[in-house]
Amino acid sequence: MNFEDIQAVKKLLSEPQKIVIVPHKNPDGDAIGSTLALWHYLRHRGQEATVIVPNDYPKFLKWMSGNDQILNFEKENSQAKSKIEAATVIFTLDFNHLGRIGQMEEPLTKLTVPFVMIDHHQEPSDYAEIMYSDVTMSSTCEMVYNLIEYLGDADAITPEMASCLYTGIMTDTGSFKFSSTTAKTHRVAAQLIEKGAESTAIHHRVFDTNTPGRLHLLGTALNNMVILEDYKTAYITLSQEELDAHKYQKGDTEGFVNYGLTLEGIIFAAIFIENKEEGIIKISFRSAGDFSVNEFARKHFEGGGHTNAAGGKSDTSLVETATYFESLLGDYAEELARP
Ligand code: 5GP
Ligand code: MN
Repeated sequence: MNFEDIQAVKKLLSEPQKIVIVPHKNPDGDAIGSTLALWHYLRHRGQEATVIVPNDYPKFLKWMSGNDQILNFEKENSQAKSKIEAATVIFTLDFNHLGRIGQMEEPLTKLTVPFVMIDHHQEPSDYAEIMYSDVTMSSTCEMVYNLIEYLGDADAITPEMASCLYTGIMTDTGSFKFSSTTAKTHRVAAQLIEKGAESTAIHHRVFDTNTPGRLHLLGTALNNMVILEDYKTAYITLSQEELDAHKYQKGDTEGFVNYGLTLEGIIFAAIFIENKEEGIIKISFRSAGDFSVNEFARKHFEGGGHTNAAGGKSDTSLVETATYFESLLGDYAEELARP
């Protein structure tokens, strides 16, 4: 974060503000962890702050301190709207263009108050007056830690805030395994543990919450996996019918896409999940090495993300989407064949 932006945040926070903090739609561990940690910090600074999520998120993220104070824009619409209309500052966390917040885009674009972006995705758009955008960061949680440190307040990090931040770093790095995990990431995680983050309990709360339905759904997903060795690619499809048969709950398919990459020789993995309610196929992409799934998702599936983890969507059927996906691979044959 550059000096001017740090000074600009300091200036904003030197006066009482009404702050709204927003993560992306379908918020993940990094989105919820970072927004709640920032919320705790801003309240510690005496600011009035509210986290408003565009829509619901999985149960395994609902244990974090402050969770019960989060407003859901879909479920608590009028309350959320009045908070947005009254806001004097907006913090947007873990995304970088307003198309990522669903129905919240409309009320937010009407505002004329300053926006602060804290994010680690590629190609940020320019809606924010203050931008802390860094694609080399493991997670937005690592960046919120940095911001608090830049503001000279690392000592104000409570065990609750430390647990929120640790959660996002842990989930966004695939438990400290993705290439975005740096020595600094580990140092921040270590500091957070020293400040009271309950690392073992957090791993347990996030990862050891399977239901029989979810494990059976994983079985179906793995059975459905298509392996295209020539393209070092593996993909999974899940139809609405299959989700319903296993009593699908939000978050149940989290992490399924990663199984493709555990196959020896596979460097490109995808999962296509039918969502009848929204009339779309939601897609996740993962890669190992240089192959950019961000570019792939951006070009073909109205999406984006990071080099090794991205998402997108398709408006055609599940079968058509998978067929289309396969038809694209020929153009990437050389890139995917690289050792
Ligand atoms: P996931 O596959 O876990 O949902 O998302 C992987 C990464 O891609 C995350 O950083 C997420 O923010 C980003 N991502 C997921 N879906 C979309 C999308 O539809 N559009 C964009 N721009 N990014 C996405
Ligand atoms: Mn993130």
